[in-house]
Amino acid sequence: MPHVIISGGSRGIGRAAVLLFADKGWSVTCLYNSTQPDVSDDICKIRCDVSDPASVSEAVRKAEERFGPVDCLISNAGISVKGLAQDFDANDYRRIMDTNFGGLFNLANAVIPGMVSRKCGVITAVSSMWGQTGASCEALYSASKGAVDAYVKSLAKELGPSGIRVNAVSPGVIETDMLRDFSSDDLEALKEDTPLGRLGSPVDVAKALFFLSSEASTFITGQIIGVNGGFLI
Ligand code: NDP
Repeated sequence: MPHVIISGGSRGIGRAAVLLFADKGWSVTCLYNSTQPDVSDDICKIRCDVSDPASVSEAVRKAEERFGPVDCLISNAGISVKGLAQDFDANDYRRIMDTNFGGLFNLANAVIPGMVSRKCGVITAVSSMWGQTGASCEALYSASKGAVDAYVKSLAKELGPSGIRVNAVSPGVIETDMLRDFSSDDLEALKEDTPLGRLGSPVDVAKALFFLSSEASTFITGQIIGVNGGFLI
């Protein structure tokens, strides 16, 4: 069965993806940072700070020791910061860019050489609809996800001739810890702005990640696939 490595697998969207891929019989490596994942021992759990290139290459080495070459990468780990753009400083800038964009950069760099030599592989990033449209009071977060989208499209062009597909899912509002600062009124308003009339679940996003990683999407590359209930059309 294929080997998928999923960053930020301890909680939220990443955890739902870990469980879905494992349920489909894949060999799953779950990368976590500070939260020990509560998943079965069939899943390979490795601590890894995605913003640190050394931590990432060591994690990929250990994952390949257990399950062999990485067939699919899901770069999902991310953080959000809210506030007025002018109040962010250089430390905020580095933290969010190093995690949200740097995580993809570091993980992709660690798996691309093996994928190129085997002439196959799939890389899927978890971006955000705010990377496409921009969010007030989330300017840095939006910029980091815009960088993810541009990188995905560029990698798709660069790696397509090597048989590697690269895409992103771009979630809308998904019920995870990332929404913990939203009031119930805010969440109600977000639901009302969503044509499908509800917030997304981590499983909604995990299903799109599985589709993009699987044989069902063999001619899809360079795409940013919205999983947002119609919030952004
Ligand atoms: P959660 O806050 O529930 O989970 C975030 C995950 O990222 C955790 O597993 C966390 O690991 C991991 N993580 C954070 N920083 C690092 C790091 N430096 N190294 C490794 N892992 C790290 O968020 P979501 O599940 O909601 O978010 C997942 C992705 O989806 C993110 O990229 C986010 O931007 C994106 N997204 C989410 C939306 C939403 O509405 N929820 C909307 C659009 C996009 P640990 O717990 O071990 O620290």
